[in-house]
Amino acid sequence: MAIENISLSGRKTAVSNKEMTFWERLYFIAIIKGMMITIKHFFSRKVTVQYPEQKREYSPVYRGQHVLMRDEEGRERCTACGLCALACPAEAITMKAAERTKEEMNLYREEKYAAIYEINMLRCIFCGLCEEACPKDAIYLTKSQKHVKPDVTRQSFIYGKDKLVISVEDGKSGKYAGLKPIQNKELN
Ligand code: SF4
Ligand code: SF4
Repeated sequence: MAIENISLSGRKTAVSNKEMTFWERLYFIAIIKGMMITIKHFFSRKVTVQYPEQKREYSPVYRGQHVLMRDEEGRERCTACGLCALACPAEAITMKAAERTKEEMNLYREEKYAAIYEINMLRCIFCGLCEEACPKDAIYLTKSQKHVKPDVTRQSFIYGKDKLVISVEDGKSGKYAGLKPIQNKELN
């Protein structure tokens, strides 16, 4: 058998150069067939939604934007140990540690804290390994439907503490405390 006639998929069809008939040249049948397909789709169940007015239900295993937690006294939990950065397969996390002073006892729970903590959202694959690795319950991927907003500069996708650390009120009220993101349906 000639190599051009071999079909591994079994779907290969021979191209014919035969001349079109009168009806084929009118394209009338082909247009009717095309219209039938369009009409069929017109009445079939729509697979698209009118976003943002309509929103799809999120998967129960959905992971949203990260938060850096505060404890019940409003102090930052993160101790800049770097375990989340080590666990991160995308190398999306960077941080710089600093030592807490006496005056900062009400700001940071541990003696060492993250003076700079950044997540590169362009790298992040929202795998959740950072929260698994954290010994201080300091980082969570919430079920928040706050998405990372589109932008034209790479720098705007580097999320620092200003975007990650929860507010003092949320820390004190325990809004996020002790809740694994997978169980928390209330976050917004
Ligand atoms: S969710 Fe995964 S990829 Fe994103 S920062 Fe955490 S460990 Fe890295
Ligand atoms: S978020 Fe957790 S794991 Fe990451 S540096 Fe802070 S304390 Fe360590």
